Amino acid sequence: MATKKPANDGAFLLNTHELPRRAGEMKEYELDVDAPFRVGVPLIAVPEGDLIEIDVRCESVTEGILVTADIFAVALGECIRCLDPIELEIERKIQELYRYEPTDDRGKKSRKKDEEFVDLDEEEVLYVMGEQVNLELPILDAIVLSLPVNPLCDEDCLGLCPDCGEKWENLPEDHQHDVVDARWAGLAGLAVEDGPDLGSSNI
Ligand SMILES: [Zn+2]
Ligand SMILES: [Zn+2]
Repeated sequence: MATKKPANDGAFLLNTHELPRRAGEMKEYELDVDAPFRVGVPLIAVPEGDLIEIDVRCESVTEGILVTADIFAVALGECIRCLDPIELEIERKIQELYRYEPTDDRGKKSRKKDEEFVDLDEEEVLYVMGEQVNLELPILDAIVLSLPVNPLCDEDCLGLCPDCGEKWENLPEDHQHDVVDARWAGLAGLAVEDGPDLGSSNI
């Protein structure tokens, strides 16, 4: 029955009105956010709707609010070698400076648009919007960046035998598939038994 929250419902917005805008002031917050969509890379990700826990510390600094966040989440995926399911705990710390939004009445400081001709630079700058900081971008980026592109169940995962699909770790060391046709099986046995003799008689 519960309607699903839209992706951008402000779950990552943090209201900092309790934080005095005086350098040195500090406040801590705890945010529990449902992943707004699948967050990750193709082979491993935090599934949509799964919990992302964020411990946030906001510090007033001269230019804005310095946000430090500890992120906890669990990503699910599968091992690229053996295809076993993987559960990966993500623990990541980020720190971002949210600048106070330049206000009109402070003169012509409307985000220095004339000076910064490179748009990309400007997009990387985060601003305090009113009293809110939006953590969505840095948090989701941090999660994606913490995930392995080629996830493994174990660094030493041996993977699967390409011929039978069994895990190498479950197979005997000498496991192999000499694709021996039934017609040759008998001869192969003979050759091994009589090998040395045949060899000498050929010389
Ligand atoms: Zn594996
Ligand atoms: Zn095999």
